Amino acid sequence: MIRKILIANRGEIALRIVRACRELGIQTIAVYSEADEQSLHVQLADEAICIGPASGAESYLRADRILSAAEIGDVDAIHPGYGFLSENSEFAEQCESCNIIFIGPRSETIMMMGDKAKARETVSKAGVPIIPGSDGPLENEHAATKVAQKIGFPVIIKAVAGGGGRGMRIAHNAVTFAKEFQSARLEALKAFGNGELYIEKYLESPRHIEFQVLADMHGNMVHLGERDCSVQRRHQKVIEESPSPFLDKNLRNRMGKAALKATQSADYVNAGTIEFLVDAKGNFYFIEMNTRIQVEHAVTEEATGIDLIKEQIQIASGNRLGFTQKEISLTKHAIECRICAENPSKGFIPSPGEIELYSAPGGHGVRVDSHAYGGYTVSPYYDSMISKVITFGRTRKIALDRMYRALSEYLIRGIDTNVDFLKAVLMDPAFRQGEATTSYIEEFLARMPKDFLDKQSKD
Ligand code: ADP
Repeated sequence: MIRKILIANRGEIALRIVRACRELGIQTIAVYSEADEQSLHVQLADEAICIGPASGAESYLRADRILSAAEIGDVDAIHPGYGFLSENSEFAEQCESCNIIFIGPRSETIMMMGDKAKARETVSKAGVPIIPGSDGPLENEHAATKVAQKIGFPVIIKAVAGGGGRGMRIAHNAVTFAKEFQSARLEALKAFGNGELYIEKYLESPRHIEFQVLADMHGNMVHLGERDCSVQRRHQKVIEESPSPFLDKNLRNRMGKAALKATQSADYVNAGTIEFLVDAKGNFYFIEMNTRIQVEHAVTEEATGIDLIKEQIQIASGNRLGFTQKEISLTKHAIECRICAENPSKGFIPSPGEIELYSAPGGHGVRVDSHAYGGYTVSPYYDSMISKVITFGRTRKIALDRMYRALSEYLIRGIDTNVDFLKAVLMDPAFRQGEATTSYIEEFLARMPKDFLDKQSKD
């Protein structure tokens, strides 16, 4: 029985977890940095403990301080949210050795899937298609060039420990390869403390389609359909939706089966996501598994009606899944936009500062997950996302029209945001017709007048 949970995170996901716990009658402890003293997750949790100064490295990434807070608070479990320590296998292991339930998969699973070269190897052995590329990490530039020449250019160089689109470089020919390899290695070392790299064939304009999975400790597992996350900027997701406008029933079934095979190959427990790239012909390839709840989980919740955070807690408590694959369907169309404090006219640079006025959309078929409020200060220390808006309805058209309406209702003053940019995408015929691939934003901007971005900063 889980009675009390420490939430090792901040922002909207910390709030989201507080809400799920409250509905389950579970007590919560928030942890916070000095910059977050006034945050909603601190105010709404049952208890709150300060764990250090603003910098993430000195607070939300300090496993020792979080574990001390867990001990003081006498919690049964820790929910890591996404980012920070959520995919840190050492932290999961420390929780296990302190007899605190880590709400997520086992530490060995996190470690295995966190090594993207190893993950490729594991799922491939189970019969899940992967993109042609290197077997394991590449020793050096020389070995890498040989593999690149064998699979044929263009190739994408990726960090074994990668995440968030960092440490990734595209090489179009053997001449640029060496330079790209070096810069990917430096970036990976800086971002992850691990410079190991692998390569894959670079697919031109694929779709990014991922499957949400749930697995309990008793060997039961299901997938909850897909999320299409093709609308990306610098390999980072901006808009996500479920179902994907590209999949038909047959392809959904085949990809769902492959997602479950990948899940099984890792002997996985709890919620996870199997990410695939899909080409124009419908060939699909595994790229990675995320061993945590994701930002875009709400899209699946609204499409299926299943509360994923509650499911995570039920699974961690040792309960069996309460449904079978046959009982799950995508009964609604749901779409999410990430609202960020950033300035599109200045290359989308973050725009931290005090939000003078904040009023979020509402009404039928609209969900907003946000920690922002009027008077809240967006800190430069953390992610620039201030709000997620999810709209849903019976059809894709209803969800899209509703999204445009919802975006138009945001009143945010004091900081710049990407709201107007998102509205422009929502009105774009190519996006509305479901044609977006991972190259979409780049192509969209190329089609727009030169001064388009100058007019897209909502303040
Ligand atoms: P990260 O873990 O850093 O997010 P991923 O492996 O999940 O990296 O890839 C992120 C994005 O990068 C994908 O959604 C896709 O847009 C692009 N990408 C990754 N691998 C390839 C590839 N082989 N070909 C084309 N695009 C790719």
